[in-house]
Amino acid sequence: MWRILTLAVVSGLWLTAVLHAEPTKKVAPVKKSPPVSATAQPLALPTPLPAAQFQGRVREAYQTAADMPQVLAGLACYCGCDKSQGHRYLLDCFVDTHGSTCGHCVNEALDAHALFMTGTPPDEIRKFIDHKYGQ
Ligand SMILES: [Zn+2]
Repeated sequence: MWRILTLAVVSGLWLTAVLHAEPTKKVAPVKKSPPVSATAQPLALPTPLPAAQFQGRVREAYQTAADMPQVLAGLACYCGCDKSQGHRYLLDCFVDTHGSTCGHCVNEALDAHALFMTGTPPDEIRKFIDHKYGQ
């Protein structure tokens, strides 16, 4: 008996929460869309090499660089290419062939892509990459 009562109360609360949450949910999508691309730098980011000239995971990584350059431009590459190649950020690894010979850069890019596809915001992606690779 108590179980049924508890269930009824819990589902009643849940329903109330859902109904109350509804109006605020409708407002959210409007807020979401503009910021990222609107605040993107006016200066053009470097263009990655065409993904079609690579194979497998390397191709996916170059495609990622082409699809979300502003995200990769916000990430550090921890393979040491900042010193050896003068790279400023992960996107630079895919502007030349460096990314095709460096598993580190490929892994970072594919991790970033996977997070991006699940809706992770760029600053959270950066935290993840810094934590996973930056040690
Ligand atoms: Zn690199």
